[in-house]
Amino acid sequence: MSGKRGKLIVISGPSGCGKGTVIKKLAETTPFWLSVSDTTREIRAGETAGVNYNYLSNDEFMSKVNDGLMLEHASYSGRAGKITYYGTPKPPVLSRLEAGENVLLEIEVQGASQIKKALPEAVLIFIMPPSMEELEARLRGRGTEKPEDIKTRLETAKTEIALADSFDYTVVNDEVETCAERIKKIIEGDI
Ligand code: ADP
Ligand code: 5GP
Repeated sequence: MSGKRGKLIVISGPSGCGKGTVIKKLAETTPFWLSVSDTTREIRAGETAGVNYNYLSNDEFMSKVNDGLMLEHASYSGRAGKITYYGTPKPPVLSRLEAGENVLLEIEVQGASQIKKALPEAVLIFIMPPSMEELEARLRGRGTEKPEDIKTRLETAKTEIALADSFDYTVVNDEVETCAERIKKIIEGDI
């Protein structure tokens, strides 16, 4: 009865390195379901609830964690130093893998290592910015964080980059199309 399970692909990398942009490009050529995470952070201009994230209160988030409904969760520096939680809802990911769909998670590094422990067959891909200068330019250019929050995200980026070696693959996002092409090949198992 049961067919082939889908592949679980985890994409991490510092905020502003281009994960969202590359994933959008990848979607033009490669079929996958992009998991919608839960978060306690505020909704940003241009985001849609249920599409970009499910926006939860701290209590709602923690009760899902306690009920075993998260595949992984982590805290991340939020606005003005406020701790923000992010997590991957478990049931939709497991059911889609079971149904043979490839599932892509775009999460930070602590979450990625929890996924590898829970599901060792997951393929972990780290997207690396070409340089710290370029990362800063991209974050500032995006214009979605205040200057003090950009500073925190750049500090966090250094610790994230130090963990890139624990990933199965590292891909530099120099050029969006090339980066997406490389990830497509990884998913298809060509490299
Ligand atoms: P992330 O999802 O990793 O936080 P985004 O996809 O939001 O990053 O990208 C951050 C900014 O950098 C955006 O303004 C985006 O247009 C830009 N960007 C992404 N990839 C590249 C690239 N290869 N070259 C130049 N700019 C890029
Ligand atoms: P942002 O606030 O810019 O949307 O995301 C901040 C960070 O949280 C990014 O590094 C993003 O990859 C990460 N993130 C988003 N969803 C999840 C999740 O479900 N789990 C974990 N661990 N990190 C997440």
